[in-house]
Amino acid sequence: MIPMLDLKLQYAALKNDIDNAVADVLQNTHFIMGPNVKQFESEAAQYLGVKHAISCNSGTDALHLALRACGIAEGDEVITTPFSYAATVEAICYVGAIPVFVDIEPNTYNISTQAIESAITTKTKAILPVHIFGQVAAMQEIVNIAEKNNLKIIEDCAQSFGSKQNNQQTGSIGDAGCFSFFPSKNLGCYGDGGLFTTNCDKTAEQFMLLKSHGSRIRNQHEIVGWNSRLDELQAAILRIKLKHIDEFNNNRISVAKRYNELLASPTIVTPSFENNGSHVFHQYTLLSENRDAISEQLTKENIGHAIYYSIPLSEQPAFKAISRSESLTNTLSICSKCISLPMFPEISNQQIEKVVSTVKSAV
Ligand SMILES: *Cc1c(COP(=O)(O)O)cnc(C)c1O
Repeated sequence: MIPMLDLKLQYAALKNDIDNAVADVLQNTHFIMGPNVKQFESEAAQYLGVKHAISCNSGTDALHLALRACGIAEGDEVITTPFSYAATVEAICYVGAIPVFVDIEPNTYNISTQAIESAITTKTKAILPVHIFGQVAAMQEIVNIAEKNNLKIIEDCAQSFGSKQNNQQTGSIGDAGCFSFFPSKNLGCYGDGGLFTTNCDKTAEQFMLLKSHGSRIRNQHEIVGWNSRLDELQAAILRIKLKHIDEFNNNRISVAKRYNELLASPTIVTPSFENNGSHVFHQYTLLSENRDAISEQLTKENIGHAIYYSIPLSEQPAFKAISRSESLTNTLSICSKCISLPMFPEISNQQIEKVVSTVKSAV
């Protein structure tokens, strides 16, 4: 049996530090907005190279409240990718805006900048790129498009903690960055958690109000807000894991390189990436015409795998009627061929070789 990811190995490696940190929080009983939350926010801001990092309850909340903090509202159009998790587009729907789905690049699975440009209308207010599977979207071009058309950029960094382009971390390039600490993410806690980042004081202030009942002074509520907090226990765990994130991500990159070498074959398209930290391999996702046969064979051998994503968001019943879609040729093709293999920092060479021989036996 080879799992898709093995969180037990990571816990075993960090057990002493994590158990002590959790015990300290339990002793301290400052469970909400305690010292670890503040410290984690400042350590994350420093790591990511942003002026403000504000924690919240989930990546979904970070996206939702980031759109609100950026002033995106009813009837505005937000251009995004259909090749992502549902939360990306739910956030757009929560503020009453219209998701506009555009196609992705065939080699990176990231939003196509050409497709963004041709989808812009007078109602377009924002671009929401997702750094899918941990690979940075074409941010320089996206920034240029946004500047030219006066659009906000909200980065979905749920899968990309630690990946960077030209030495800029994801989440520090657009107007806002939104991270998830769901346990399976590159930086994951032991429950739900999220983070919002920005370099803009006003947007940070607005996000702070929105996530804390519209209140900055106790018992004074300026706007209708939400309750979205990162637990002290989760912050304490994240502070320990943040110290190891580069090591985790470097291991993932090594695993991906090994997979790419071993899987090279005419019937498999391995993920293309530059070896410069711009891909941190939240997922290792290949393309093959024989995807279903590969999946069957992996199931037979008890090897974890997943189809991220089999149905584009544009085709999901929840979003179909309330969104607009441009031509999505690449997306549809990739949805029919993609399959994600076991990927975690601690996977062994032996496990990698077993996954590869099983995949190869099916193509
Ligand atoms: C996980 C994920 C989210 C949502 O994060 P949660 O913390 O689970 O709410 C949003 N977008 C993408 C691309 C994700 O992978």
